[in-house]
Amino acid sequence: MENHCPVEAQYKEVNLANHLLAIKLANLGPADPRQPNTLYWGDKMVLWGVEEGVARTRLCMNCGYYDKSPEMLECIATGEGGTLKPSELPVEPKWADIQGMPSAICTRWNITCSALRTCDDWEPCEWEESEEEDNKPTSYVDMMPKED
Ligand code: SF4
Repeated sequence: MENHCPVEAQYKEVNLANHLLAIKLANLGPADPRQPNTLYWGDKMVLWGVEEGVARTRLCMNCGYYDKSPEMLECIATGEGGTLKPSELPVEPKWADIQGMPSAICTRWNITCSALRTCDDWEPCEWEESEEEDNKPTSYVDMMPKED
């Protein structure tokens, strides 16, 4: 039967290689989103020409390239590529695995990406462009998973 899943979800080595490309060419990161990462976000402020608080809200989870459709989540759950852990990437500093945070497919870089990371190519998604200003997340804290 034909597999309609993207290659990065099917093959771990493809997912890994594309991660390295995205890190090199689009500064995918940060390595550990739970840290302040002041320099990382400072670079994004300059690149995007926005305040720090705005830059810190531009995450994969609200990027226009972030595909978390049921089909893609199924591909990640069942494909070998979906088993790639950020901590397996051959980079320094080592990347942190963020427990409990969902991965989805980045259609820009063809990777499984963590919700709390970002890259230079972040684009607003449709709901972000169309929703009322009041409904937008206003800080990084607003986007963190809530405790039960
Ligand atoms: S293009 Fe968007 S979804 Fe893909 S890595 Fe960059 S910020 Fe994340």
